[in-house]
Amino acid sequence: MPIRPENRRRYPQNWKSISYKIMQRAGNRCEVCGVRHGDWGWRDERGRFQRVRARPFIEAGHGKPPFYTNMRWPDGVVREVKIIKIILTVAHLDHQPENCADENLMAMCQRCHNLYDINFRAFNRHRCHGTAPLFGELPIQVKDPNKLFELLRANQEGIPCT
Ligand SMILES: [Zn+2]
Repeated sequence: MPIRPENRRRYPQNWKSISYKIMQRAGNRCEVCGVRHGDWGWRDERGRFQRVRARPFIEAGHGKPPFYTNMRWPDGVVREVKIIKIILTVAHLDHQPENCADENLMAMCQRCHNLYDINFRAFNRHRCHGTAPLFGELPIQVKDPNKLFELLRANQEGIPCT
């Protein structure tokens, strides 16, 4: 997720080296679903990433992702897909840019970062209304949803209701 201009001042000056360190820790993979930084591919109907080799597309004159193309799906049917490039960003689990403790930072792909943010807000809303949401109601389609759920819980407990 790009840093919003109004939040830029909340990041420490050495944010670049902090996020680099987290990317190294992550082995350049999303720490939620495991996809690798820079990979090209598409997501199937369940959100699973299907990697493709970039070279044939480059040689065929495609520009950089995102772009649409036809691919054979695991069920054998050819369908149009959107080829994307995985870009990892470093997420603050408690949504506080000032908190750059290692355990508050996680390298995430676009999808996991979005899902985390959506769920963070939804979880907090439900919690503030005194109803614990059922996990199944949340739009989570990551490889290890329990891990994401644990993270959400751990990061909601210290946050006051607004
Ligand atoms: Zn991911």
